[in-house]
Amino acid sequence: MIQMRQLKGILLLMLFVVATAMLVSGCTRQKAEEAERPEYVLVIHGGAGAMERSLMSPEAEAAYRQGLLESLEAGEAVLRSGGSSVDAVVAAIVLMEDNPLFNAGKGAVLNEAGDIAHDASLMEGSEGRAGAVGAVQTIRNPILAAKAIMDEGRHVFLVGKGAESFALSQGVDTISPTFFITPERWESYEKTRNSRLEREFPLQPKGTVGAAALDKNGNLAAGTSTGGMHYKRVGRLGDSPVIGAGTWADNNSCAVSATGHGEYFIRNAVASDISARMLYGNKSLKQASDEVVMQKLSALDAGGGIIAVDKNGNIAMPFNTPGMFRGFVKAGSEPFVAIYPDEIQLD
Ligand code: ASP
Repeated sequence: MIQMRQLKGILLLMLFVVATAMLVSGCTRQKAEEAERPEYVLVIHGGAGAMERSLMSPEAEAAYRQGLLESLEAGEAVLRSGGSSVDAVVAAIVLMEDNPLFNAGKGAVLNEAGDIAHDASLMEGSEGRAGAVGAVQTIRNPILAAKAIMDEGRHVFLVGKGAESFALSQGVDTISPTFFITPERWESYEKTRNSRLEREFPLQPKGTVGAAALDKNGNLAAGTSTGGMHYKRVGRLGDSPVIGAGTWADNNSCAVSATGHGEYFIRNAVASDISARMLYGNKSLKQASDEVVMQKLSALDAGGGIIAVDKNGNIAMPFNTPGMFRGFVKAGSEPFVAIYPDEIQLD
């Protein structure tokens, strides 16, 4: 007969063996994932929204895909030559800010007063440094102003005139606000202004832009830039410039850029929640981002999506809208761009 004490001893030993096996297999998995890490990764979005196939002309579709490819090329050139994830994210976003198709920089949407008001943010994952601008009207590339704030380091978030004069003092280009207004955006502003129904339920254009990258040194970074919501209230800030909501980067977990109905993304701290679920809940990037976007936000009827890359180079691009302009490139493979949900490429 086995004594009670012996039984306890056996059980403890079994527990020890199982725990050690789990630890060893966990470490081995972690090591294998690290070993498989691509040299660099860049993932981008050009906004989530109602872009059904049937409503998009082949020409418009081709132009968006081309814009995404050019942005990936610009960011990849930085990463390939050993540049930082911060510089790659900025390079990719500048291209999309300059492209009038996207709702950022030139081609951004207008607020209730018919004015431009750009928001942008940038974060890097090694020290958690960050910079953001809100409601700026004269900065040629808002993401460059976010970078200037991050580089200087005294503050994280500047808005309006103060942000503009700081950017100017740091050598960031400024330009007249009229430069950003395209005929298409002016037309939709006028349409909304002249229709009571549209004023109450303004149609939301897609086109916020963002990027997240992992560089050869294993550093993560993410950035986001937008004109915000069409016909927004004067002074409204969305999630895009809010660190933790629209943008997040942490070398221990992932880098995230979001797009969608900003108020919900702020209330749910979307970008940092994904990172937190990985860190404290031991979730994979895919699990964490699916939980936040496909479950939590969908349950709130909050439309949008995110793009993200984790510290091992895995990517995720979930969205709960009819489409999301998106793409990624990894060292040694061809870039991939997509708009609709059925365009799936395993990473
Ligand atoms: N998130 C942006 C905002 O609320 C809009 C968007 O991504 O489409 O300002």
